[in-house]
Amino acid sequence: MAVNQSHTLPESLRESARLVEKTREERLARLLRGETFPLLSLSDRRAWLEEYHPDYQLEGRRTLGVGPSKGMETPVELADLLEAWPRANVLSLYEDSDKRLAQEPDHVTDVLIIGGGGAGMAAAITAAEAGAKVTIATKLRPGDSNTIMAEGGIQAADQECDSPVQHFLDVLGGGHFTNDPDMVEALVTDGPETLRWLEELGLLFDKYATGRMKTRHGGGTSRKRLHSCGDVTGLEIMRVLQDRAEYLGVETIQFHPAVELLTDENGRAVGVVLERIPQGETLVVRAKAVILATGGFGRLHFRDFPTSNHYGATADGLAIAYRAGLPLRDIQSCQYHPTGVAYPEQKLGLLLTEKFRGLGAQILNRHGDEFVHNLEPRDVTTATIIRECSEYDNGVETPGGVNGVWLDIPLIELLHGRGTIEREFPGRFKEFIGKGFDIRKWPVLAYPTLHYQNGGVVTGTDAATDMPGLFAAGEVTGGVHGKNRLMGNALLEILVFGRRAGEGAARFAAEFGAGGKPGLSHLDAFLEELTVAKIDRQRTAPRLLPVYGKVRPV
Ligand SMILES: Cc1cc2nc3c(=O)[nH]c(=O)nc-3n(C[C@H](O)[C@H](O)[C@H](O)COP(=O)(O)OP(=O)(O)OC[C@H]3O[C@@H](n4cnc5c(N)ncnc54)[C@H](O)[C@@H]3O)c2cc1C
Repeated sequence: MAVNQSHTLPESLRESARLVEKTREERLARLLRGETFPLLSLSDRRAWLEEYHPDYQLEGRRTLGVGPSKGMETPVELADLLEAWPRANVLSLYEDSDKRLAQEPDHVTDVLIIGGGGAGMAAAITAAEAGAKVTIATKLRPGDSNTIMAEGGIQAADQECDSPVQHFLDVLGGGHFTNDPDMVEALVTDGPETLRWLEELGLLFDKYATGRMKTRHGGGTSRKRLHSCGDVTGLEIMRVLQDRAEYLGVETIQFHPAVELLTDENGRAVGVVLERIPQGETLVVRAKAVILATGGFGRLHFRDFPTSNHYGATADGLAIAYRAGLPLRDIQSCQYHPTGVAYPEQKLGLLLTEKFRGLGAQILNRHGDEFVHNLEPRDVTTATIIRECSEYDNGVETPGGVNGVWLDIPLIELLHGRGTIEREFPGRFKEFIGKGFDIRKWPVLAYPTLHYQNGGVVTGTDAATDMPGLFAAGEVTGGVHGKNRLMGNALLEILVFGRRAGEGAARFAAEFGAGGKPGLSHLDAFLEELTVAKIDRQRTAPRLLPVYGKVRPV
């Protein structure tokens, strides 16, 4: 592919990039001798995390004073959404609910799924296969999701040298033993079967000529169990899920985010209020069961971090669940992926998948020196990058004032041969080469980016929440990863628990039928608490779209 030479690194960055080139041969020789940068001891890991990882800093957090998780610490931007009034159209519906909700609903279905990413699609497929009429309501277009952007791959213990037990231990260790072990057991047990299911749907995993799956290491994993489709694994997963859902007749309501749940007199979920974007009219949907699959919160840009997330990742599901009385867990815990793009600045925060490091790309400071083992868990790597740039002043500053460290991608081809980068990372290769930047030749400047919501709504292994008729799956939930997720386990989670949610919701719908009169009485206690706490009525949630004009680079 032709490279436009007019846009490469500016001279100020090139000087440091040349030092990377200079140390490359020696680093390669060390790798070929089997020598790697030493892994940190457990006590050093803890020390770096406590001192440098944003999750461990009090700055930018506050304690929730209202709602079911009162007393919990969260980033202020999220606390402001959890302790917020419903949007104006929901409040007017609340005040007039007897009249308005007594009318015919705008739409009726068996299972209503809020969110059209991977968890929502997987749920839709199993619910429809179980015979339910299924509707997905989604905020923007069906493809607007973190799932479609997922790059590196999906973990599952399907190789002879591996087992779900080994996978279980890695997930718990990665999460610093703060995970819900039952959820982890469900995740790893369903793993191999989930891969088979994807293949049956037509998914094309990377394989050797023999037909054997190609597997790689991810940070914090003791076995090679990362399965991928180049660096566009999420796109390929969404392709087969959307095809199947369409074939099964799942209907989709686009540009209609959920803004509130509907409950009956027994406190059971019986539907949802949707708001049309951008007009703001409401749509009342009745459903026998509801599944929350709204994804994460990256677009809240905690502490002004850039993000890798899709545009609609604004924590809507957390706000809706919280004021319906559902407890949340680990929501103070965010995953800052160590390698978001720091230059070119128009790509700030864009993900450089861990698979780059899995294939040998090293993280280096401005002198071209290694300072962290390639595959430490993500939170530890992030903490050491922040330390290197702040405490040791060993970062590289871009013309726009963004700090970063090098990801030495060209090393990959010296280890695995020419053509590897284009073959293994077609998405990122094309993205950069389109801007005239050849990642086969130059290292890329990177800095941690707000990437993943580790915690969320509490569910059981059947994806049921504490509210009858309401299920939840995917990034909106908490428990599986504890306070730190390992690479590749989110894609597995959305499929395992998405499918369980779909099965559970279809069963619930068939067993319990339509439920009672729809209303908004689940808001009574929460609105009372907001009034007592004197929460400003201008503060409303869910936010639906991110606010810009304020985010600045770290
Ligand atoms: C760039 C990137 C790369 C990643 N790479 C990997 C990887 O290689 N491996 C891995 O395991 N994980 C990876 N992850 C994480 C993983 O992709 C996500 O955690 C996972 O896909 C989330 O799936 P989900 O269905 O829960 O949410 P999403 O896929 O984000 O879907 C949520 C959906 O809900 C919709 N929505 C939001 N609010 C509302 C509302 N109010 N009403 C209606 N709809 C709403 C959204 O628009 C969206 O369609 C990556 C994430 C990113 C951002």
